[in-house]
Amino acid sequence: MAERLARAGVDDPRVRAAFERVPRHRLIPDALAGQAYRDTAIPIGEGQTISAPSVVGAMTQALELVGSETVLEVGTGSAYQAAILAELAARVISIERVPRLAASARRALDGLGVSNVVVYLGDGTRGRPADAPFDAIVVTAGGPTIPDPLLDQLAVGGRLVGPFGERDEQRLMRIRRTSETDYTQEWIGRCRFVDLVGAHGWRE
Ligand code: SAH
Repeated sequence: MAERLARAGVDDPRVRAAFERVPRHRLIPDALAGQAYRDTAIPIGEGQTISAPSVVGAMTQALELVGSETVLEVGTGSAYQAAILAELAARVISIERVPRLAASARRALDGLGVSNVVVYLGDGTRGRPADAPFDAIVVTAGGPTIPDPLLDQLAVGGRLVGPFGERDEQRLMRIRRTSETDYTQEWIGRCRFVDLVGAHGWRE
C-alpha cells in the first residue's frame, strides 16, 4: 500500500499513516476481500464502486487536513474514504443518496469503532446547511459542474476537492475559497468516477 501511495504522489506522513490504520478489507463485500489491497476500484453494489487507494490518497492529501476540521463528504459509498477522513479531521459529515449503501456504511463504521463520522441519507449536491461552513469538502462522484451549494458552504480558507466534467471522464479539481467572494481552481489530474446524481448533478 505504501508503495502505491508513494507512486501516486501521496507523501504526507499523516495521510500515509491513516491508510495504514484503516482496514480496507472490512469495507468491501466479503467475496472481494482478497482484492482489498490492490490499487483498483472495487464494486460495492448498487452499481457503485469504492475508489482505488491511490485516488482516495490523492484526494485526501489535496484537502490539506491538520486535524481540527469539519469535513463534508458527498458520496459515502463503502465508507472507506470517510474512515480515512475520520483519522485526519475532527468531524466528518458524509451524505449518501442510496439507502442501502448509507445503512451498510453506518454499520461498517460502527464495526470499526469510528465515532466522529455521521452518515446522512440524501442529495449531497445540496450540501448540509445545518452543519456549514465546512473547512474541507470532498465530492467522491463525478458531476457536470461544481455544485453551487457546496461552494457556498465552504469556509473561507477551505478546500473543495472533486471530479467534474463529462460523464466518461472528469478533471479532478481543487477549489480554494480565498475570501467571501473569491475562489481559485487547480487541476489535479484526470479521472473517471461514478455519476454524481442530484439537483446539482446529473439527472437520474
Ligand atoms: N467515497 C466512497 C466512494 C463511493 S462511489 C468510498 O470511499 O467508497 C460514489 C458514491 O456517491 C456512491 O455510493 C453514490 O451512490 C454516491 N452518490 C452519487 N450522487 C450522490 C449525491 N448527489 N449525494 C450523495 N451521494 C451520492
